[in-house]
Amino acid sequence: MSTPRFKRILLKLSGEVLMGEGGLAIDPAVTGRVAEEIAAVRAMGHELCVVVGGGNIFRGISGAARGMDRATGDYMGMLATVMNALAVQNALEQIGVDTRVQSAIPMASVCEPFIRRRAERHLEKGRVVIFAAGVGSPYFTTDTGAALRAAEMKCDALFKGTSVDGVYDADPKQVPTAKRYETVSYDRVLADNLKVMDASAVALCRDNHIPIVVFNIRGEGNLAAVLQGEGTSTIVTDQESQ
Ligand code: UDP
Repeated sequence: MSTPRFKRILLKLSGEVLMGEGGLAIDPAVTGRVAEEIAAVRAMGHELCVVVGGGNIFRGISGAARGMDRATGDYMGMLATVMNALAVQNALEQIGVDTRVQSAIPMASVCEPFIRRRAERHLEKGRVVIFAAGVGSPYFTTDTGAALRAAEMKCDALFKGTSVDGVYDADPKQVPTAKRYETVSYDRVLADNLKVMDASAVALCRDNHIPIVVFNIRGEGNLAAVLQGEGTSTIVTDQESQ
């Protein structure tokens, strides 16, 4: 079998990806469908790191807007990502995919602490490694956590699963003529403030030459298709936009 284009990837899922109809924060059916997408690419021979956000449960910035201490809110947000990571782990193990959760905030009875060399060994054994609690510090986001782990784990690309099929020059939900980029440079994303990931996450990927592939995670089979160079997505790289 030939080596796939992106052998080792980091998949970043926002917490909202796990939400169902009617505002259920973690919908087991929806989470199960996400797990199927991950299992499919695992079966294709890819090595998978996963970072899950926590926005479906709590964001520190929203707490701060209501008068809460920002750092406290951020720690709550990080704990929310651990809940999501356990939900994704459970869904994957229900369909026979071996996984480990590693948290940036040590939680010995719940999951492993983040240990890079141990994570590496899990990947070598074919396990999906789910990284929880972002970078483990307040005032960061799981986008930045994803970029950091992608760099540390030497991932070939960071796949950002969203509810749109790429990066547009305007909001496609508001501007019908908005154009989707096939490729776009990190610098343009930052200069034009295009909605991809936080600026710190984009800069970290740029400095470490990690392509960011933005695609729609909700479409069945999309992750596998985009990994095979099919389907619709936008790749953020060093190259200027097309
Ligand atoms: N968070 C944090 N440090 C991190 C990662 C996350 O403080 O390294 C907190 C922060 O409050 C954030 C929340 O956890 O809003 C949930 O993460 P995020 O907003 O990135 O989740 P997503 O939008 O991807 O669902």
